Order: sequence, then structure tokens, then C-alpha cells
Amino acid sequence: MNDIPKKGKVYLVGAGPGDPGLITLRGKFLLERAEAVVYDHLANVKLLAHAPAEAELIYVGKKSNQHTLPQEGINRLLVELGLAGKRVVRLKGGDPFIFGRGAEEIEELVKAGIPFEVVPGVTSATAAATYAGIPITHRDYTASVAFVTGHEADGKEESNIAWDKLATGAGTIIIYMGIKNLPIITKKLIEHGRAPDTPVAVVRWASTPQQRSVVGTLATITEVVMQAKITPPALVIVGEVVKLRDMIDWYEHRPLFGKRIAVTRTREQASELVSKLEEYGAECLEYPTIHIEPVADCSVIDAALENMAAYHWLLFTSLNAVTYFFKRLHEKGLDSRALAPCKIGAVGKTTADEIGKYGLRADMIPERFTGEGLAEALIAAGETQNRRFLLPRALKAMETLAELLEDAGGSVTVAPVYQNVPPQGRKDELRKSLLERGLDVVTFASSSAVTNFLNMVDAQDEAELHQLLDPVKIAVIGPVTAETVRKRGLKVDIQPERYTIDDLAAAIAAQGRQG
Ligand code: SAH
Repeated sequence: MNDIPKKGKVYLVGAGPGDPGLITLRGKFLLERAEAVVYDHLANVKLLAHAPAEAELIYVGKKSNQHTLPQEGINRLLVELGLAGKRVVRLKGGDPFIFGRGAEEIEELVKAGIPFEVVPGVTSATAAATYAGIPITHRDYTASVAFVTGHEADGKEESNIAWDKLATGAGTIIIYMGIKNLPIITKKLIEHGRAPDTPVAVVRWASTPQQRSVVGTLATITEVVMQAKITPPALVIVGEVVKLRDMIDWYEHRPLFGKRIAVTRTREQASELVSKLEEYGAECLEYPTIHIEPVADCSVIDAALENMAAYHWLLFTSLNAVTYFFKRLHEKGLDSRALAPCKIGAVGKTTADEIGKYGLRADMIPERFTGEGLAEALIAAGETQNRRFLLPRALKAMETLAELLEDAGGSVTVAPVYQNVPPQGRKDELRKSLLERGLDVVTFASSSAVTNFLNMVDAQDEAELHQLLDPVKIAVIGPVTAETVRKRGLKVDIQPERYTIDDLAAAIAAQGRQG
């Protein structure tokens, strides 16, 4: 029996045009179950995050001219993986059957008797038009659309494209792979009767933060594209509908479109700020300046957890404190009921929301979201004299809250539950971005993020620090973080009135709008 190979299955999945949100639910479902993913240049690598950690990820490239693996090699690879019994996702940019050579890959699978399925994708033509504010059909302008490859334009006799018929036969003409041959294509369309003043748009890297679009006419677009130095991948959209862009263009008008923002938070927490900023159109580069770990010595927290009745208040001053406190609670086989004897205080709304995830409501959230604010609120409520507080927090942290409570007659048990460890790596990449002026904004959501980020920047002296960071806007979540930035001799450009992630993102967007 050993000589009968186990056969897997190959799924040709359309990755969509670039925006990782534009894959189909079916495509995502299959990625999540893939044992191998074979992907190319136009499929957004962010989609690979859907694949299981143990899936084999194989890049097969394909920029014109420098094929990482020629088509025959890709075909063979898919057959091999299929014969090895793998569940394979062949992730292809846009739609697999629109200029995607999908059928050629399937032909080999059929020959080898390997089962397959095909999942359509949002093709780059419709996405580029939509994200450039161009409806590809419109009752007043055009009732037909043609998808054309521009690759063949210079192949004289063997060209399959009837440019004579196409020129006036289709209302909207969308050309894939048309940049190199743009002078020939526009010439042919004009020669065969399309008006030279027909509007044309060219959209590069559509539906990604790098999207760029330019507009001209059949007569001018070649020059426009050359001036703007537009290179592939790009689509050429020809037709009266291009005029509607003036009204509809929405994607490039989002407040943070074209801005690159460094988000310096812990890996665990970055996602919320990143997704908010992305909603505003920004491109985010995540720099995990702090790596969070549980503390090695749990003796203080363990003793406290076994005797919660000894405390009147349990105070949380950060998200991480909540996360690591409950992690330890659960590790000890306990749950939220163990906290019944205590009231709960949270430094701010985000922390209180996190506590809510464990089925608990904070009894106190101060008006001012700082440790001091929390101390003041407790003092004002007469909740400090002879009160015992449990304060789970970072191994190294400011003592302000504990000191204020003790000064007001309370007794505080500081229980370290997590520690900040500066992560390795990413340093060279960060310096390169800064040197190349590749960043518009850097965000800090805590003082330790500032410290660790500056360690990572690793400026030789003040002069270099200013050279690297003065061109970048610095956004901070609140006054304590702002103070840390100023102490390092840098200036704070953006600071929200309320110290929340939502407000921070909104404040950055408001600045983005101004330019
Ligand atoms: N199967 C793909 C097309 C592959 S052909 C699809 O359905 O979209 C490769 C060409 O697609 C590129 O040369 C370019 O013209 C176009 N293309 C793909 N993704 C693009 C993008 N994000 N922006 C602009 N053009 C894109």
C-alpha cells in the first residue's frame, strides 16, 4: 500500500487586490485550515496571519522579469504538495481566473489526479476603480466594461486583442499589466476611433496604503505616468466614468491616508490603536518596544490571592496589571469570585473595560485617568483612612499612587505581576525608517514605551536624536507620558484631552486633516 501516495487537495484562492479586508470569508476559512500556503507577490502577506502557525508558507514571487519560481515550477510544487497529502492554499492576487494563470495550474493538478477547488476573489480592476472613486459602469456614461491585458499590445501578429473593435466597442476599458505598453495602447485606441480627450486614470498598488492614482486623457496619460514615475503594478482605466472620481474619490481622502505611523506599544495591546488608525487611513508600523512577561517571583501576589478578605480595595492602574493579575488568579485555580470581599478601583475607562471582561464592575474610576487622580478620588470618598489596598502592577513602576494612599492613612500591598522587558530586533529597521524620513508620526501610550523606543533609536547624542526625531510628530496618550517625552528634550505635538486610545487616534486624525 505504501506506493500509493496519499492525495491532498489544492484550493486556488483569490487573495483580493491588496486590502487584507477584501478576501472572501471562504478564502479566510480555507487559509485557517491550510497545511501549506503558496503565495505570490500580489497577495498581501498580512493574509498569511490567518494560516495556522505550523503551516508551511512558500513564496513563489513573480514580479515581471524576476520570477522567483517560473510557472512550471509553481505547477510542479502544487502537484508535489498535493501528492504529499497536504491541504494546500494557492493564494493568488485578485481573482485566480482573471489574468492569473489559474487554469494552467489546474491543468497540472488534473493530470496528477489531485482534487481542487477555486475561490473567486475581488479582482484588482474593480478594486482599483472603486478605491480611486470610479464606478466602472454608470447609466449615463457606459453600459459595458472590458478587462484587457496590456501585455500583448506589442506582440504584433499574435495579439489576441482586437484593438480596433475594443476602442469604441466597450464603454469602460480596464487594462491590466498595461504600464510598459501604455504609449502603444493609447495610440491604438486613438487610431481606432476613441476620442483623444477620453479621461484615463492609472492606479498603482490599489487598495493599499501605497495607493497612488493619476488622471489624464488618452492623449496625455503616458506623459502623466512618466512624470509621476508610476511603475507596475498598476491598472489603466479608460472611459467617461473616470470623471466621477472628482465626486466619489473617498479612499485617498481619509484623514490619515498616506501617513506612516509608528505604533510603539506592547505587541499584546497594539492592535486596538492600529486598527483605529487604519480606519482613518494610516499605514501603521508596529514597534513592540516593550515585551511583557509575568514576574518570576509570585510570592506577594500568591499570598494576597489566598487572603483577599484582608483587603478593602483592589486597584488596577494598567491594562497589563489586569491581564497578569487574572492570569495568576486562574493559574491558582481561582476565579473572579475570590475577589468578592474587595471593592475595585480602575485608573481609567480602558482599564475598567478590561476588568469588565472578567464579569466585574469597577466601583471607582477617577475623573482624571492617572494614579494621582485615583488617589484623589479615593481620598475624596473617605476611602483611605485605615483601608488596606492591594495594588497589582509592574515590577518597576512609579510609587505615586502607593505613597499618596499611605500618606492618607491607608496601607498598600504592592504586588508585582508583570515586568517590561525591552525586545530584541527591529532596531535597524527603525533607524532606517527614521533616516529615510519614512515616518510621519510616532505614538506613545506609556512612559516606558518612550524610554524603550528611545533605547531602540539609540541616538549617539542630542544632535542625532533631534536630527532623527524632529521631523516626526510625537503623539502621546496623556500628561505623564508627555512629561517623559519632554524630559528627553523632545516636543509633544499631539495629546488628546481624554487619555484613551480612541481619543489618541482621533487627535492624530485631526492633525492629519490639517496636513
Ligand atoms: N489575478 C489578478 C491579476 C494578475 S495580473 C487580479 O485579478 O487582480 C497582474 C496585474 O494586475 C498587475 O500588473 C496590475 O496591472 C494588476 N494588479 C494587481 N493588483 C493590483 C493592485 N493592487 N493595484 C494595481 N494593479 C494591480
